[in-house]
Amino acid sequence: MIFRWFGEISTAHSGGRHTLTRPPLIQSSIRDADALVTAGLAQDADRAALQVVGGRYAVAITGAMQALIAHPDDPIGRQFIPDPAELATAPHERADPIGDDALSPLPGVVHRYPDRALLKPLLVCPVYCRFCFRREHVGPGGGLLSDAELDAAYAWFRARPAIREVILTGGDPLMLSPRRLGAILCTLAEIPHIELLRIHTRVPVAEPSRVTEALAAAMEVETPVWLVLHANHARELTPDAVAALRRIQGAGVPLLGQSVLLRGVNDSSEALEDLFRAMLRARVKPYYLHQLDPAPGTARFAVPIEEGQRILRALRGRVTGLAWPNYVLDIPGGHGKVPVGPGYLEDGAVLDPAGTRHRLAGVSTA
Ligand code: SF4
Repeated sequence: MIFRWFGEISTAHSGGRHTLTRPPLIQSSIRDADALVTAGLAQDADRAALQVVGGRYAVAITGAMQALIAHPDDPIGRQFIPDPAELATAPHERADPIGDDALSPLPGVVHRYPDRALLKPLLVCPVYCRFCFRREHVGPGGGLLSDAELDAAYAWFRARPAIREVILTGGDPLMLSPRRLGAILCTLAEIPHIELLRIHTRVPVAEPSRVTEALAAAMEVETPVWLVLHANHARELTPDAVAALRRIQGAGVPLLGQSVLLRGVNDSSEALEDLFRAMLRARVKPYYLHQLDPAPGTARFAVPIEEGQRILRALRGRVTGLAWPNYVLDIPGGHGKVPVGPGYLEDGAVLDPAGTRHRLAGVSTA
């Protein structure tokens, strides 16, 4: 890691909550190497290398996230501060790790499973995560679907009665204006066979002030809307983030959480316990823990599946079942998502949370 921190900021950790004892220099939003250096998040000597990284992969760190960075290499800094290591692509890494492009019948639509499809109305995000599996596509350039492209997507959904669920993703759908988000949700809600709408977002933690009452009200449509919050560390669930989530819940939208298992961010049972408990306090049910997708230049975040299983196994019996997400892998190449969590059945016996084997009389394990 090339960064060194020049300040004296420290964190206090108590009961899963982290408090900065002194905030860093906050800019509204950091978008390039110069701003990183000015904010004390990178050294001047690294400016040129980081400009090259920024030319390849989008950079944005909101003020809300910047305020949480105690050190460039801490769990928040690692997620958003670019690193020259991103310029090296490992042999197994792919530009489109989960095969979105091959499964896209028209702009903005991805169809992988029979009963659901993705709609990506834009490719803008509030922050650009250094491990993002869509990093070759997302960026401030937009990818905003035109009205004609949206109409084509609606027509495609209308013509496919097998599609019961539309998942708005991107980019981040909550970067849309309330008017545009509301129009998209209302149009989809009018398609009779669509029973469920889902929004995947990082906005409530990354830029909670964007979640206005008007944006929350835009989610209030007849068809059930579920929101899946992407957060990877307990520190992201700030009071402002929790208040933003409450506004969304006020619109009758249930909340789920998804996280990515990331080296140096949440790769311990303690960090995951803190994260899942923080989600539950915010009324967010942990839903998915994703194995890192092999996007280019992300190797520094990789945690082997076997290690992920060990980390999760250590949580079994220690945290409420409500805190348990599904540990899942998107099989590279677009072959779908499968659970890869630890197993508890072995050779006709079952393991208890402490790892002790028990033979079960009268229960077939064959
Ligand atoms: S917010 Fe989501 S889509 Fe955007 S960069 Fe982060 S992981 Fe990727």
